[in-house]
Amino acid sequence: MRAFAYTRATDVSGAVAAARDPDVKFLGGGTNLLDLMKMGVEHPGHLVDVTRLPLAAIEERESGLRLGATARNSDVANHPLVRQRYRVLSEALVAGASPQLRNMATMGGNLMQRTRCAYFYDPTFAECNKRVPGSGCAALQGYHRMHAILGASEACIATHPSDAAVALAALDAVVRVVGPGGERAIPIVDFHRLPGDTPQLDTNLRGDELITAIDLPALPFGRRSHYLKVRDRNSYAFALVSVAAALDLDGQGVIRQARLALGGVAHKPWRVAEAEQRLVGQRPGDGAWRAAAEAAVAGARPRRDNAFKVELARRSIARALATTAALT
Ligand code: SF4
Repeated sequence: MRAFAYTRATDVSGAVAAARDPDVKFLGGGTNLLDLMKMGVEHPGHLVDVTRLPLAAIEERESGLRLGATARNSDVANHPLVRQRYRVLSEALVAGASPQLRNMATMGGNLMQRTRCAYFYDPTFAECNKRVPGSGCAALQGYHRMHAILGASEACIATHPSDAAVALAALDAVVRVVGPGGERAIPIVDFHRLPGDTPQLDTNLRGDELITAIDLPALPFGRRSHYLKVRDRNSYAFALVSVAAALDLDGQGVIRQARLALGGVAHKPWRVAEAEQRLVGQRPGDGAWRAAAEAAVAGARPRRDNAFKVELARRSIARALATTAALT
């Protein structure tokens, strides 16, 4: 492991100024970055700890709820307003990692965590375009049971590991960032990238920008929302497939609006607008769920070991929507 300097940022502008040095990385809870440093995947020369910045508040605002970037995952998951109004996010956070990790991990860091593709994590494998651009992708012919079925490229078929980001995608969250040029707001669906020819880039955040908050717009039907995570074991495992769903039903029980996002299937949280449209105007039931599920996986391109994910996604979507519709 490379020796590195460690400093604690005392204000946001100082942290942003420090990040002009490309050898600097921000340190939140460190639950992924420190692992990657120990493995020799990441090797920053200087860590700037941002956890003491005043960015941990969870605040109700006229437009919805603001989650500070350094708010801990467990604090957000257990916050009464998140549990009441954005149930899907609370459930997604609780489905992620272990209680100890959730107590450390921050919301900003959650968005920045990197794929758990085994070839990316192990530098003894020479081929990994995400770790060493241009080196190839060992997963194409190797072990890819956990890998992407949607939006992948020949350069990389990794999946994004975050559960919370899938719920945030369904909730139309907006990521607020600050950099040398000032503040900007990035819709969550534009925050993470597809791999294309540049799989080394996970997000559209620039190296000298700091996440300061995540805004959740007021979503009256966020109470009727649900996160379903399907995994190999029932705790402390990444999703094979996950579904974040929210439904708005009118007085007659007809679906007025729907939100649907998938995890475990792509390089980014996979919001499926076409599937949402299929649900609008329908009555809850198997027919509506099946149509939405078909639309959601229409572009799937599975590989040798992960073809099971297509049917798993269909069934998971149907189950998540049925559960969501039954909520009061
Ligand atoms: Fe690397 Fe992506 Fe291929 Fe995994 S899938 S080996 S992260 S390039």
